[in-house]
Amino acid sequence: MTSIRVEDYEPIVGSQTIEELHLLAERIRGTRVKMVNSTAVGGGVAEILNRLVPLLNNLGISTQWEVIKGGEDFFEVTKKIHNALHGEKISFTQRMKEIFLDENRENLRNTHLDQNIIVIHDPQPIVYIEAKNQTAAKWVWRCHIDISSPNEEVWAFLKGYVEQYDTALFSSPRFSKGLSIPQFLFFPSIDPLSDKNRDLEPKFIDQVLEQFHIPKDKPIVTQISRFDRLKDPIGVIQAYRMVKRHIDCRLVLAGGGASDDPEGELVLNEVITEADGDPNIHILLLPPTSSLEINALQRASTIIIQKSIREGFGLTVSEALWKKKPVIGNAVGGIPAQIIPNFTGSLVYSVEGAAYQIRYLLSHPDIAQKLGECGHEYVKEEFLITQTLRRYLLLFHVLYHPQERIIFV
Ligand code: UDP
Repeated sequence: MTSIRVEDYEPIVGSQTIEELHLLAERIRGTRVKMVNSTAVGGGVAEILNRLVPLLNNLGISTQWEVIKGGEDFFEVTKKIHNALHGEKISFTQRMKEIFLDENRENLRNTHLDQNIIVIHDPQPIVYIEAKNQTAAKWVWRCHIDISSPNEEVWAFLKGYVEQYDTALFSSPRFSKGLSIPQFLFFPSIDPLSDKNRDLEPKFIDQVLEQFHIPKDKPIVTQISRFDRLKDPIGVIQAYRMVKRHIDCRLVLAGGGASDDPEGELVLNEVITEADGDPNIHILLLPPTSSLEINALQRASTIIIQKSIREGFGLTVSEALWKKKPVIGNAVGGIPAQIIPNFTGSLVYSVEGAAYQIRYLLSHPDIAQKLGECGHEYVKEEFLITQTLRRYLLLFHVLYHPQERIIFV
């Protein structure tokens, strides 16, 4: 785990925010927390816990991070459950349920739950709640996934566990469900000190452009996304073509995940076919360790587009706004939470709309700049890791001292 301090963020968020975090932590001094998820590396949840847990400890809130163990069969089942929560049809057999329950219970036999607050992330360790009566803890279920239209059978099974928790946290109002327990909105967040988001030397940005053979002769419109149809890369090319009739520019479509994902490779090939050898369209297949390159590509862009057809939250939007870029996003999933039209970016609903906005922003650089600046401030307020930290501290306060009134903002 990285050793970071809350003070490291002071130059970015200011001393008041840091002071507030210390004050909030002071009020719940002595609270001991356990976070449980299913992986220590890879994926957004592990990425956030890698920062959140040391920062909570740094604030004096003793926080332990446990990773649930399981065999191959367990993780096959949990992957199926995950896909089913995204709406996929699966056959949810009795055997699958047994594997899921047995592995959770085996983990429970080997754990100590003497903390005051236990936060269970996502469905994999959800059955830990069976130990609730043996503890004095408050139990929180943090759901990071889009469960707006789940497979009903799988959701009904999980719901029985979710409703035993004291509260549930969701990343978007669209993902919350009718539940008998209180729910809170917890936006995901980006880390301004990570390689993906930290400031870069202009020389490094130029090197990355050279490495990918992208000349700086024209405005650059970029979408960073896995090659997935739901990210609508073809729609982005169509919008670019409409713009191109009026304004000369380059298009960068950069993403990974194609080599190990047969569908990704298919989509990548569709994109290459659609690009039809246009030398101003740069299709970049990125390896998984490309944080600095993605950072540089975002910073080198004139406009960032995120034309998803469906989207969980769309972290790429906050990443781009943080870099003060004007962002054009399709109005789906968590994108409208980040883009306030004409204030922090442009929301669109079609290829034509995207093309219109690209043209507009390319020909109004002063407005584009203003949107980027406002976007940066908005991300600073809502979507930085320090805000996640603040939300957890407030939540712990509400759970730990329910008799004290505190206004949630
Ligand atoms: N990303 C990456 N490599 C890629 C494409 C995307 O590291 O080739 C990053 C991107 O910068 C962002 C995350 O992966 O941090 C994607 O999150 P988002 O919520 O935008 O979409 P998801 O891929 O989770 O649907």
